[in-house]
Amino acid sequence: MSLSLKIAVVGGGPAGLLFAKLVARENPGCRIDVFEQNPSDATYGFGIVLADVVLDFLTGVDADLHADLTGAAERQDAITIYHQRQAVPIRGNVFLGIPRVRLLNIMQTHAASKGVNIEYSKRIENLDALKGYDLIVGADGVNSAVRNALQHEFQAVVEPRLNKWAWYGTCHRFDSVELIFEQTPYGIFIAHSYRYAADAGTFVIECHPDTWKRAGLDTKSDEESRRFCGEIFARYLDGDELISNRSLWFNPSFVTSKRWYAGNVVLIGDALKTVHPSIGSGTRMAFEDAVALARAVNGGGGDVAASLAEFERSRRPTADGFQDAAMRSILWYETADTRMHLTPLEFAYNFMMRTGKVNRERLRKIDPDFLAAYEAEAAGKEMAEQA
Ligand SMILES: Cc1cc2nc3c(=O)[nH]c(=O)nc-3n(C[C@H](O)[C@H](O)[C@H](O)COP(=O)(O)OP(=O)(O)OC[C@H]3O[C@@H](n4cnc5c(N)ncnc54)[C@H](O)[C@@H]3O)c2cc1C
Repeated sequence: MSLSLKIAVVGGGPAGLLFAKLVARENPGCRIDVFEQNPSDATYGFGIVLADVVLDFLTGVDADLHADLTGAAERQDAITIYHQRQAVPIRGNVFLGIPRVRLLNIMQTHAASKGVNIEYSKRIENLDALKGYDLIVGADGVNSAVRNALQHEFQAVVEPRLNKWAWYGTCHRFDSVELIFEQTPYGIFIAHSYRYAADAGTFVIECHPDTWKRAGLDTKSDEESRRFCGEIFARYLDGDELISNRSLWFNPSFVTSKRWYAGNVVLIGDALKTVHPSIGSGTRMAFEDAVALARAVNGGGGDVAASLAEFERSRRPTADGFQDAAMRSILWYETADTRMHLTPLEFAYNFMMRTGKVNRERLRKIDPDFLAAYEAEAAGKEMAEQA
């Protein structure tokens, strides 16, 4: 039987739009309003990347959305790690890149096709504007106004992490997802790059705050920063320039919330908890939260309190485990300088193991050549030490 709840979703990002669609699809009797502060075609940044296995879980949930997203995505089937200017390719992982605005437009169309009402350019400043709704979903991202309004309930901790980040674009065509660790007189600069369209890629730069200061980036203008970063990575960009889109330096925050819901208000996606760009799975977390909450609401018979308790019960263990992995990744990058003495193969192996989610046997399966080369080098070193 179709539910007849009145639901407000604050934020039309991946979490809010997927949740709204999945509930509307099962419950034509529900009224679902999504409030999005931006116009439908506005977004920050350039493109995002997802592992194909991440999107695979959508096939069982929403096959149409899965088909549209994978159809619009650019595929890359290897990571190349540059250390000491030597390339170490690791195959076996498929990555799907997509412009963020394209991802949102597809999801907006899907939600609207099921009767979801999306109000663009409508920022929700406080919860008084949402009186009369049976359920309020805070899907308004890392700086969530919903979470802030009920901070005494959610008891969120927002911790800006150490490293500095700037999100640039490039039209340089890299064949694989690139992770470049470039030693400079100021310290290490790290570039994370992936293609999200045939002729466009994201080029995100990360560095330790001490490196950032030594390079004078704290006093450089945006244009000077862009040119400086382009010069650092010039040998990899073959003369192509970095493209700025309000590419200001920032410290990504790590958000955890002690409580997930309060009364009829619940948080999902980055509003609830973040991972980190260095592990690149924020959209995955947003999708998985949306699916778990939609399942709990759809199966809750209209009992909002029971649905929210079920959402937390079913989702929290996996989400907490992923946040632990994200923290290990954050710490790995923040201490990257302590591993620069490793050989390129050792460095790449260490990188693949950083979250604890991949073990040696898994690596053997995904790229046997890489693991064989790593093991041969390790055995050779051991023999040399014994001789
Ligand atoms: C540098 C960087 C690189 C990243 N790269 C990747 C990547 O490659 N792959 C990946 O999976 N993830 C990546 N992420 C993370 C990813 O962007 C987020 O984790 C994901 O978008 C979270 O989805 P969401 O729906 O919870 O929040 P968001 O995508 O942030 O959406 C929230 C929406 O709410 C709207 N909003 C906010 N406040 C209000 C309000 N008060 N009223 C109305 N509307 C409001 C916003 O405009 C926005 O549209 C990256 C993040 C950063 C910073």
